[in-house]
Amino acid sequence: MHDMSHTIRKVEFWPVDIPMTDPFVVATGARTIAENVFLRVTLSNGAQGYGEAAPFPEVGGEARESSLIALQRLGKGILGHSAARYTNIGHVLSEQALNYPAACCGLETAVIDAYCRASNIPMWKLWGGTDVRERETDITIPIADLDKTVALARGWYAKGFRLFKMKVGKDVESDIRRLEAVHRALPDIAFIGDGNQGFSRQDCLAFAQGVKRFGGTMVLLEQPVARDDLDSMAAIRRETGIPVAADESVRSLADAHEVVARGAADYINIKIMKTGVAEAVEIASFTKTSGLKLMIGGMLETRIAMGCSFSLVLGLGGFDVLDLDTPLLLANDPVSDGYRYDGPRLRPWSKPGLDMKTEPVAQVTIIE
Ligand SMILES: [Mg+2]
Repeated sequence: MHDMSHTIRKVEFWPVDIPMTDPFVVATGARTIAENVFLRVTLSNGAQGYGEAAPFPEVGGEARESSLIALQRLGKGILGHSAARYTNIGHVLSEQALNYPAACCGLETAVIDAYCRASNIPMWKLWGGTDVRERETDITIPIADLDKTVALARGWYAKGFRLFKMKVGKDVESDIRRLEAVHRALPDIAFIGDGNQGFSRQDCLAFAQGVKRFGGTMVLLEQPVARDDLDSMAAIRRETGIPVAADESVRSLADAHEVVARGAADYINIKIMKTGVAEAVEIASFTKTSGLKLMIGGMLETRIAMGCSFSLVLGLGGFDVLDLDTPLLLANDPVSDGYRYDGPRLRPWSKPGLDMKTEPVAQVTIIE
């Protein structure tokens, strides 16, 4: 029987602008402000849950204005449904709005959070709670000039960070020089090189060779080439001996199947903004079954969306590389409570849902 207490009664959403501490420059584009949407879902028993849409137009083609328009329709569509059927809701949302994965993800997260609060369990418990402990994240260094790059790296190093995800893929020679400068300043760190599809196969091989020449430790090459160029991903794995992570190449479970079949990666980078939460769980399970390793990251997200991703880490287990640092790149934190950062460490929480709170600040849309 339908449990009426979990019925979705109200959906609210509003735009949120959060400035970045430093311009976020990657091979595909640049951002100085995270233009996101916060959402709140209320159930008939009064339980409320929060979600966040963090569209990244340069990657997904989804901009905030179109997310807000899509949410009018998607929000109406879930009224009257039971939040207990969150998995089904997630799948239906994705089918209804293929071009708005961030909007769908925000709504789905809010439904899941509300359901967990109504059920009095932390969100990670929903997925098992098999790996609940402090975890360390990498830190992302955007593309910048040499001095700025080294200054940023030194700042994070002083806070305890040792795994540096360097955004690369715009210019091989300057990429190598930037990494070399950081390596000279901080010899005991390790690098992830995230090309965001910016390299050709030859560029990437030259990049890996250049880093090897100065003695840098490169533990992972993330999405070096165009998302469809799985042959080059496979070749780069073979020829460099460095593990490759598929990020933009995996925007659905079907994509993950293709990457595995073609031997194109060692890691799959799960992001709820690419696929929604339900499909992210399926991709994670498939990745483990296939013998590949799991990485998890995000777009320019606050602790709301990233708290949902951290819930997957704690709940499902098996995530080797955490790239859950974007709240640290934002100039302020518009959310209270929930998980905490202590340098590079993420500290789990034990209260229901995401255990977070935030109040609408502007142009709230209410659907009830
Ligand atoms: Mg990436």
